[in-house]
Amino acid sequence: MSDTAQPTSPHVMNTYGRLPIALTHGQGCRVWDTTGKVYLDGLGGIAVNTLGHNHPELVPALQDQVAKLIHSSNYYHVPGQETLAAKLVDLSGMTNAFFCCTGLEANEAALKLARKFGHDKGIERPEIVVYEAAFHGRSIATLSATGNPKVQAGFGPLVEGFIRVPLNDIEALKKATEGNPNVVAVFFETIQGEGGIHPMRWEYLRQVRQLCNERDWLMMIDEVQCGMGRTGKWFAHQWAGIVPDVMPLAKGLGSGMPIGAVVAGPRAAHIFGPGNHGTTFGGNPLAMRAGIETIRIMEEHNLLDNAEKVGAHLKSTLQHELEGVAGVKEVRGQGLMLGIELDRPCGVILNQACEAGLLLSVTADSVIRLVPPLILTQAEADEIVAILVPIIKRFLA
Ligand SMILES: *Cc1c(COP(=O)(O)O)cnc(C)c1O
Repeated sequence: MSDTAQPTSPHVMNTYGRLPIALTHGQGCRVWDTTGKVYLDGLGGIAVNTLGHNHPELVPALQDQVAKLIHSSNYYHVPGQETLAAKLVDLSGMTNAFFCCTGLEANEAALKLARKFGHDKGIERPEIVVYEAAFHGRSIATLSATGNPKVQAGFGPLVEGFIRVPLNDIEALKKATEGNPNVVAVFFETIQGEGGIHPMRWEYLRQVRQLCNERDWLMMIDEVQCGMGRTGKWFAHQWAGIVPDVMPLAKGLGSGMPIGAVVAGPRAAHIFGPGNHGTTFGGNPLAMRAGIETIRIMEEHNLLDNAEKVGAHLKSTLQHELEGVAGVKEVRGQGLMLGIELDRPCGVILNQACEAGLLLSVTADSVIRLVPPLILTQAEADEIVAILVPIIKRFLA
């Protein structure tokens, strides 16, 4: 952190390395801080603010809902759950949804589904395949599924029942599970986010789908970060033409309202019965309205197309501008989920970009990550390049 960093709060737990600014309001892809300084938002609240800030259609819808009913509890039917579930089913080709509030909760639900899927078949100690560099959240179970020792350090004993394999290597997956009758599911991100923007190859996704069919495993895809239109399809795995059995969602689903969902296909939709899973806040009318309106507005404004086109433009411009620059390893990703990998740790770029008026993040120590709102324009993409490229070149010089 820069030496202007604010002192640690006396009362808020010290769990984040925060930048020394506080944001007060936003408009579109711009946000302002307490001093009046304006920033271009290349982070979107970490792939959350799908519609940017102060969206003229989302804000009145949420205001209307706040005045009607914020929360009612799952003791009763919540019509918004029916509407949003039907929409997610329609977009995914799956059949049922369960609603919660965050990504890790959606992943917890997926892990519980996989375990009960096994128990229902008489497997007493079910095992789930997970991946190197994966990130699935910070609860005890989801940090155990995560493939980052830093996330796990200090929180053992970890939850057991995970088998870890490398990405994009079908032979390694077959070898790691050979002759093991306890495997019940394969669980991964289509494009790893926190792990450094590492995509699964489409061919690999098709191979895993095939293997899951042959062996009666659940294919569970964590689309918490790469889903909800970010790559130019509703869900990133759709580029491979496959349908998973279980799909956790969160982040961009409510454009800033806390919301998570686990969507299930026919093989997983009826594993849970009454009493098997639940949440107090999950699926409340306000969060449902945010999800419904986010999807409606995305459809009305063709934001999938925008993410694909502006993302492709941003990626190719970055590739062009950074071509031959010593220390730049790769510009990768899809749509508006892009990573620029450098050959060294580059956390300081976060501070330098912030000072220059651009919000972004650095993941896996050396990957600059851009996950802006899906309303980003080509001109704003060019502005990101104009601010970021000189910073990267100076850093590497
Ligand atoms: C952010 C993220 C999570 C965790 O979501 P929270 O809402 O922070 O619990 C899980 N999986 C992936 C892929 C993520 O990017």
